[in-house]
Amino acid sequence: MRRAAAWLGLICLWLTGASWAGTAPKAHPASAQTGSLRLDGAAQQGGYVLGWTPSITRRLLFNGQEIRFDADGRFAIGFGRDAPAQARLEAVLDDGQTLTLPIAVAARTWRTENLPTLPRVSQPSAEFLARRPAEIAQIEAARRVASSSAGWRQRFIWPAQGRISGLFGSQRIYAGEPGVPHNGVDVAAGTGRPVIAPADGVVVLAAQSPFTLEGHLLMLDHGMGLNSAFLHLSRIDVAVGDVVRQGQTIGAVGMTGRATGPHLHWGMRWAQDRIDPAMLAGPMSSAPAAP
Ligand SMILES: [Zn+2]
Repeated sequence: MRRAAAWLGLICLWLTGASWAGTAPKAHPASAQTGSLRLDGAAQQGGYVLGWTPSITRRLLFNGQEIRFDADGRFAIGFGRDAPAQARLEAVLDDGQTLTLPIAVAARTWRTENLPTLPRVSQPSAEFLARRPAEIAQIEAARRVASSSAGWRQRFIWPAQGRISGLFGSQRIYAGEPGVPHNGVDVAAGTGRPVIAPADGVVVLAAQSPFTLEGHLLMLDHGMGLNSAFLHLSRIDVAVGDVVRQGQTIGAVGMTGRATGPHLHWGMRWAQDRIDPAMLAGPMSSAPAAP
């Protein structure tokens, strides 16, 4: 018991050390995984990182909000595009101790494009106004589904191959007025090209009749508050409730809804924050497929 207390004391010293910069040691013996609160990698805006909390954790808090963790102590956190430079994890343990992990969140620079004029704004049609509330309600209901999928633990793969035609976080500035940042990543690919599941998941929305903006919209829950949305599909091959495996074909690229050309828009969220899918999938390894 005394040895355990000493060990935890050492960890607390380490965690509160002034040199802590949000990076975790690369290799850590499995036996130590029960004893520390730590992240697997560096935190940055738009990023997503897995972590470990001691097995005797009772509550885990991220910036004061309770978050989930698995029985083995594994958890994940994500950082929005405009996440502040400092974040904090706290683990309240069964023995009453609290471990605190300050996290330095690296800033990223986002592509901006300055346009001299204001965007052309057209009045939304009566049909759009009539249909939109029900679509938003379906999307919000899908986001609330908390499946037991373990996809959130996996290394993600790209759901489609092609040229990256739109970056997460990019923003147009119209005559000095900032537009809404792009909330996903766009992959340009021909209509009918396969879209595969980037990780295991459960289908939480499959819009067989196209939504006004998203078109045929497919959403997967990867568990632990992490989900993916695939927009503008020409075809959806799965149904709500289906359990899909990483690499399984789930639909096809298209340009349904509001799209100027065939592409896949892939958006991701962790909890309430939109995160950058490209940071989960990494560089696209294989050569872009012919459209
Ligand atoms: Zn897009």
